[in-house]
Amino acid sequence: MNSECIFCKIVNQEIPAKVVFENDDFLVFNDINPKAELHFLVIPKLHIATLNDADFSQENLLGRMMLLAPKIANENGSTNGFRTIINCGKIGLQEVYHLHMHVLGGQKPLGGFGF
Ligand code: 5GP
Ligand code: ZN
Repeated sequence: MNSECIFCKIVNQEIPAKVVFENDDFLVFNDINPKAELHFLVIPKLHIATLNDADFSQENLLGRMMLLAPKIANENGSTNGFRTIINCGKIGLQEVYHLHMHVLGGQKPLGGFGF
C-alpha cells in the first residue's frame, strides 16, 4: 500500500471505481477514460510501481495477471479477441505508477497503435 497511489486508494475503496472482478490478489475495473468499447484495468492489489520494479519472486502473480485478460474480456462480451497493454515508465508514457494491464476490446476491431 502506497498512501499517495490512486490505484491503492481504489483497492482500499477510498476512491470509487466500477469493479468487474476481484479476488485476493487482483482488482479489475473500468478505465475512467475508455479508449475502446471495453477498457478494463487489471491491477495486482500489491503496490508494484512499474513492470521494471517487478522481480522473479512475483512471476506467479504476473502469470496469473496475464491469464485474467482472456477471462475478463470473454466474460464481458469481447468474444473475438482483445488487446493488452502495459505501459512502463517515462518512455512508455505510464501515467499511474501502480502496475496495471490495460485490456481493450469489444466487438469492433481496435485501431492501430497510431505512433
Ligand atoms: P497508464 O498511462 O498509466 O498506462 O494508464 C493509466 C490509466 O488509468 C489511464 O487509461 C487512465 O484513464 C486511468 N485512470 C487514471 N485515474 C483513474 C481513476 O481514478 N479511476 C479509473 N478507473 N481509471 C483511472
Ligand atoms: Zn499503488
